[in-house]
Amino acid sequence: MSIQVYVDGEWYSRDEAKVSVFDHGFLYGDGVFEGIRAYGGRVFRLTEHLDRLYDSARAIWLEIPLSWREMEGVVLETLRRSNLRDAYIRLVVSRGRGDLGLDPRKCPRPTVVCIADSIALYPEEVYTRGMQVISVSTRRNPPDTVWPQVKSLNYLTSIIAKISAATQGYPEVIMLNKEGYVCEGTGDNIFIVKKGRLITPAVHLGILPGITRAAVMEYARDLGYAVEEGTFTLYDLYTADECFLTGTAAEIVPVVECDARKIGSGQPGEITRQLIAEFRRRVQVEGTPIG
Ligand code: PMP
Repeated sequence: MSIQVYVDGEWYSRDEAKVSVFDHGFLYGDGVFEGIRAYGGRVFRLTEHLDRLYDSARAIWLEIPLSWREMEGVVLETLRRSNLRDAYIRLVVSRGRGDLGLDPRKCPRPTVVCIADSIALYPEEVYTRGMQVISVSTRRNPPDTVWPQVKSLNYLTSIIAKISAATQGYPEVIMLNKEGYVCEGTGDNIFIVKKGRLITPAVHLGILPGITRAAVMEYARDLGYAVEEGTFTLYDLYTADECFLTGTAAEIVPVVECDARKIGSGQPGEITRQLIAEFRRRVQVEGTPIG
């Protein structure tokens, strides 16, 4: 398998793909990105990912030099050239090459990169036995700073939270907002299940509106469950019947313990397992064919 990486109109091998050290994506984290998956030759929810990319860019005055359709073509062509049917795709648009000052007006052309490769965030047993997590003091950035809806290249909040979890021996964390309401993980959204109802934090609390989150809400409703976008605290999480995380890279991860409180029975819950099975089935049949 030879991974082909798209950089500004050309495809390169993994070792040859390069961007400038004067790129403001590198110097300042000035840019936006998407993480997308392909399953069995189909790109999962590509439209939603591209829409989110263009929205993120618009919010930070970043004009993507490719049209939406051209960008769709880049993703599909990168997969074809890399000969991948199942893949994790990273699409990056940075401010581009400028000088050492942060003024983005000195960057004439944004850099566009598309990489298709594989990713395995957690070992398989995490999906069958569930994950133990902790909450951390690092707060999700409030909506009066960089809006959490922008999938910005600066992931330091999540990275700090992730490292503080690792220092305590945990693979993932739950981040709260400044008011103490549960927001999300470092790269995934959270759901709790109480008395057969699913609840996930509302977008205005300060989360990234995940594409997987939206898919899971849809699948759960199709299976007959009530789903609510709401507001809840760690108390509600500790006393939930079930809990799980959702994200493109993580997919659906059962959470069986938080802050040393067992959630429900301490095993992945029934609804969680049902949703994992439904998700695994539907990602194979939905999606844009790679061609
Ligand atoms: N929250 C954050 C902070 C994320 O980085 C991600 C990953 N993109 C998610 C949630 C999950 O979003 P999605 O399902 O679109 O991957």
